[in-house]
Amino acid sequence: MAGYDILPLLFLAGAGIVLFFIARSRGLVANNFGSVPAVKIETSFSDIGGQAAAIKELQEALSFIKNHSDIQKLGIRPLKGILLTGPPGTGKTLLAKAAASFTDASFLAASGSEFIEMYAGVGAQRVRKLFQSAREMSRRIGKNNSIIFIDEIEILGGKRGQTTGHLEYDQTLNELLVQMDGLKVDDSVRVLVVAATNRVDMLDPALLRPGRFDRQVKVELPDREGRLDILKIHTRNKPLADDVKLESLSRETFGFSGAHLESLANEAAILAMRESLDQVYYRHFHEAVDKVMMGERLDRRPSLQDLKRVAIHETGHAFVSEHIRGGSVSTLTITPRGQALGYMRQTPEDDTYLYTRDYLENQIAVMLAGAVAEELELGGRSTGAGNDYLQATSTADRIINSGMSELGVVDPETLPRSFRYRVQKKILQAQEERVRQFLLKKKRELAEVVEILLEQERISGQELRKILETAAA
Ligand code: ATP
Repeated sequence: MAGYDILPLLFLAGAGIVLFFIARSRGLVANNFGSVPAVKIETSFSDIGGQAAAIKELQEALSFIKNHSDIQKLGIRPLKGILLTGPPGTGKTLLAKAAASFTDASFLAASGSEFIEMYAGVGAQRVRKLFQSAREMSRRIGKNNSIIFIDEIEILGGKRGQTTGHLEYDQTLNELLVQMDGLKVDDSVRVLVVAATNRVDMLDPALLRPGRFDRQVKVELPDREGRLDILKIHTRNKPLADDVKLESLSRETFGFSGAHLESLANEAAILAMRESLDQVYYRHFHEAVDKVMMGERLDRRPSLQDLKRVAIHETGHAFVSEHIRGGSVSTLTITPRGQALGYMRQTPEDDTYLYTRDYLENQIAVMLAGAVAEELELGGRSTGAGNDYLQATSTADRIINSGMSELGVVDPETLPRSFRYRVQKKILQAQEERVRQFLLKKKRELAEVVEILLEQERISGQELRKILETAAA
């Protein structure tokens, strides 16, 4: 070794060992289940908004784990699995993480797709390894409980015998069942499997049998109050200007999931940063809603002729929307975004889950108003209305299928197509005519708004109402 200075090498090796032990003591070292990282949990139920019912149900189920000794005394079999079902981005992963901190458990996450391999036996081996890793990790960080979270369980736990190359899928699912059956109340590390899916109908019934996924917790899209809670959570760390009203924002975001709302708050802050402001204003949130709904603003600049057509089309939608429900227009714009050349955004009144025939017909009127405005102002329609027609026909179908059309109660499956077509056409034509008569009387105001829109690119609902009021006076 003479002539070589090995001190730097020794130093590096020492530093490596120290770092390894620090990481291990914090439970951060990647475990030996391939790509699945051991996650450090900092999520609690208070970080999850709008899911009070799901949280309550989950906490009740988890009390089985918390009161472990009582369960053992009474000879109750352990809870082995909880299935969270619901649309994407509603907080299922968050709930599983919060469940881990609630029960002081280690947390291991995997996704159903990670178990699917071409080679027979590999998936099953991974399932075994996952359970083994969960136990080892818990022991290493000194915990008695472990939560294994499997996202997209339908990929791994789909009905057996249905997939091509099904042997491999079946072996993987069988292994999961075997592992779950093997969980005992007196195991030194008690493992609970929390799985998530938005396709519960695809799951193999064996998974839902008692002793497997005993509890099903529904995680729905948040309602208005829920959206407000989530917005509060995701704006906690953001300096908000005085004009930001989270209540109005929660009203405007009907149908948004928790993930959408998180993205909305983030995008609004980015817009404020682009303007070098140190506070986020309401207009930033407003624009962020458009972005989350419609996609990124496009640089593409349509020709003046196209812009005029788009402006007429969107103003047509907006006029009919305001006529049907005053105050319903939130924004009118001809800025291209995502797939749309322009759009009119409505403010939902309140979360509505049941619709009357009048309501649906009014919706159809708004959908058809763009094309009718084009026809009245430019003498013909364009391909821009294609999507509106699709929506209008499916709304007409809804009227028919729910027994609200002249056909009365029907079986949608056996209803002859010609009947459906005739009634659909009648519903659409009636609304088209209604819209035509209304817009014919508004030609002057329409031209005025189109001109302003071409100049400003965007008109807020308030501005639009002011223009309409002045024109009417
Ligand atoms: P997927 O089904 O697509 O896996 P998921 O239901 O598991 O989605 P999460 O991964 O838990 O959804 O949510 C994604 C992100 O969205 C979270 O990290 C969080 O920022 C936000 N989010 C979703 N739901 C909520 C909620 N109820 N409260 C607060 N934030 C939420």
